[in-house]
Amino acid sequence: MILQAENLTKHYGPVRAVDGVSLHIARGETLALVGESGCGKSTTARLVLRLIEPTGGTIRFDGEDITRLPPGRLKPFRRRTGVVFQDPYASLNPRLRVGDTILEPMQVHGLGSAAEQRARMRELLGLVGLAPFHAERYPHEFSGGQRQRIGIARALAAGPELLVCDEPVSALDVTIQAQVINLLRDLQRRLGLATLFIAHDLGVVKHLADRVAVMYLGRIVELADKRSLFANPRHPYTRALLAAIPHPDPARRGMLRPLGGDLPSAANPPPGCRFHTRCPHATEICRRNDPPLLDGIACHHHRELPAMDMAYAGALSETATRRLARYADAASARSIGAAAERDA
Ligand code: ADP
Ligand code: MG
Repeated sequence: MILQAENLTKHYGPVRAVDGVSLHIARGETLALVGESGCGKSTTARLVLRLIEPTGGTIRFDGEDITRLPPGRLKPFRRRTGVVFQDPYASLNPRLRVGDTILEPMQVHGLGSAAEQRARMRELLGLVGLAPFHAERYPHEFSGGQRQRIGIARALAAGPELLVCDEPVSALDVTIQAQVINLLRDLQRRLGLATLFIAHDLGVVKHLADRVAVMYLGRIVELADKRSLFANPRHPYTRALLAAIPHPDPARRGMLRPLGGDLPSAANPPPGCRFHTRCPHATEICRRNDPPLLDGIACHHHRELPAMDMAYAGALSETATRRLARYADAASARSIGAAAERDA
């Protein structure tokens, strides 16, 4: 196991941003973490990266408990982890040339000679579909998609074993999203990276994930192998997320209602099952007892729920699949480099 987090919590005063999250990632594996904005995904990412201090719980990296390592002793861990942030505009230093941005992690960790670092920097540019001359330019000279490619090159620079991607495509146009997702999938396969991939939309993770964890108000409510999650979503919230994947046929769109209402405040989560205020199946027990995550599901009624209309769910995910595949084919038909030019 490259990463094992047990019962992680992060409270900001009354706000329970993360409230008892356990997850693990094997070497080379991709775990997707999915849920609405505000449910605690970024906080979970920052916790497992030790960018913020947990209120409770433990984090193990490659078997070593790193939960309480002081900042001074985190450097080897930092070298072995990489992070790609959501906003490709805010996450790159505007005053650094792209080449220097990619060189920086190698310099910080003293990896190789200056000549080796420059060679590696050029190799990384190629790996993400950019050209050597891009090294001399500044971030503002690039499109959003290209900036995210630069962010990925920087995240890979020190040779991490775990990559954390926090909504890396949410800020990009849909065609560019598919290109960046393809690039990430490609890199994962080639480099054997373990990845924590965060998204608010299940459609985005379908092509990348091995397993999927669905998060609601600071908790994981369902955790399953990707195939079984898409074929047989068990939690009412997972079903609602699946229903939210856009479907072009309005007749079908009406068959499954996406979730209404807002995410309750993390400062004042509902008693019992946190989802009960928005759940069409909630009963008295849901208002009283908080269901634990057992066998990958945290729902009192998951055994009794009507089977989801799988024809519909299948059609939904198939459409999303086809849409992404179409972009994927278009992108790989050209060289990755040409695709990068196109997204300029
Ligand atoms: P997500 O990434 O899923 O959108 P976040 O992890 O950013 O969610 O936030 C989870 C909850 O924690 C939200 O209610 C958010 O307002 C709160 N939160 C996050 N960071 C802080 C902070 N530094 N101080 C106070 N509250 C925070
Ligand atoms: Mg976030």
